[in-house]
Amino acid sequence: MQHIHDCNGEGLVDYPNNVDCKDVNVWIHDSGMACSHDYSCPVCRRESAILQLGIGIMQPCWTCQDLGYVLVKKKEPKFNELLKRWFQLS
Ligand SMILES: [Zn+2]
Repeated sequence: MQHIHDCNGEGLVDYPNNVDCKDVNVWIHDSGMACSHDYSCPVCRRESAILQLGIGIMQPCWTCQDLGYVLVKKKEPKFNELLKRWFQLS
C-alpha cells in the first residue's frame, strides 16, 4: 500500500523536510523453507513483493515480473570509471 499526501495547500500538512524509512517485517519459518513479510510490490503496490531469501532482496510481485519489472544490479564499474566519478564529484 502506498499513501500519497498532498502538501502545502489550505488545510494540508506542510511538506516534510526529512522522512524516515519504514521498517519491513519478515517472519521466517523455523524450517527455513517458508517466510512471510509485509512489504508490498514496489511496482503495483497491490500485491506482496517476492523476497529472495538467499540474498534478502525484495523483487516485484510475480505479475509485475511477468510484465518485465525486476530489480537488477548494474554491471560493476571499472576502477578507472570510479576514478572519473570521484573527480567529477569534487
Ligand atoms: Zn506488482
